[in-house]
Amino acid sequence: MRHRYLGRSGLQISEIVYGNWITHGLQVENEVAADCVRAALDAGITTFDTADVYANGRAEEVLGEALRGHRRESLEVFTKDYWPVGPDPKGPNDTGLSRKHIMEGINGSLRRLGMDYVDLYQAHRYDLFTPLEETMQAFADVVHQGKALYIGVSEWTPEQIRAAHLLADDLKFRLISSQPEYSMLWRVIEPEVIPACRELGLSQIVWSPLAQGVLTGKYPPGQAPPPGSRATDTKGGGKGFMSKFMKDDILSAVQGLRPIADELGVTMAQMAIAWVLQNDNVAAALVGASRPEQVAENVKASGIAIPAELMTRIDEVLGDTVERDSARVATMTPAKRSI
Ligand code: NDP
Repeated sequence: MRHRYLGRSGLQISEIVYGNWITHGLQVENEVAADCVRAALDAGITTFDTADVYANGRAEEVLGEALRGHRRESLEVFTKDYWPVGPDPKGPNDTGLSRKHIMEGINGSLRRLGMDYVDLYQAHRYDLFTPLEETMQAFADVVHQGKALYIGVSEWTPEQIRAAHLLADDLKFRLISSQPEYSMLWRVIEPEVIPACRELGLSQIVWSPLAQGVLTGKYPPGQAPPPGSRATDTKGGGKGFMSKFMKDDILSAVQGLRPIADELGVTMAQMAIAWVLQNDNVAAALVGASRPEQVAENVKASGIAIPAELMTRIDEVLGDTVERDSARVATMTPAKRSI
């Protein structure tokens, strides 16, 4: 497993990161979750990504349990804050990036993970209601208290990232990463987010590089999804989340990638993960798995170089099914507050 530096920092992370959205605490049983984490560690993955909101806090607990006993110095653990977590009733301060929610958020995450600190604490979305100065001061305090070592953001626009980066510099902490969706099929960060981050010293840690499993080729058009696959998952909501890719034109185009993967001598999943890693602003592909065999297959993408000629053929095969519209970055409902 290769490692890459995360942004303009000294932190190195495995270029394949294991993430537990939808799976831990929802789609898969705890033993399977632990087996997946063990497979990741065995394959050299050292970096793990979760969020407080995944399975309403349970995903952090499952990940913390699975990593317990493993040398903390050798792990990089990332989590996120924004949405409400925990038992009902929830109040107005359970959402967003206010100082209150960030302080409650980090304390809750550390408790569920059973850890003293996380390596990267990420704003899961941008908060349109809280002044950015308040959010960044709270992040600075979290870092200065030693509860997180670095700060990142997820699904923020280039303008939001620029403003936050300036404030972080003034407050003497490092904003080092952006966590957006990115895959062969979803390239909306290429025109603006990546150039801005390159200039400012942030890396991308990209989610759903397999387009939630679609780029593995296991969903041929016109056929029922394989039993147990995410496209059938109603418990974790996977079926709904991946509906934007479950269209016949996309599924047909994806089947056209198989001969290219064959020529490269890799599986379609490995080619899709390697594809995002060809971009040098991408520090890591954030990959999920519902069983350990998938982890074992996916980690082999580390270090694969895709020749330029095959990169061009991938573009030709996917054609218009690729989403490139930068306006689709961070689609949150704009809102106004009264003061
Ligand atoms: P992927 O695109 O990697 O999809 C993972 C899913 O694809 C697996 O759960 C599995 O589903 C299927 N799969 C994986 N490998 C294989 C394989 N080799 N063969 C066949 N099927 C395979 O990423 P995710 O959508 O899971 O996202 C990854 C991580 O990114 C998350 O865990 C989370 O950490 C992060 N994330 C962040 C978000 C954000 O807003 N910041 C949003 C979403 C994710 P199955 O077997 O059930 O079909």
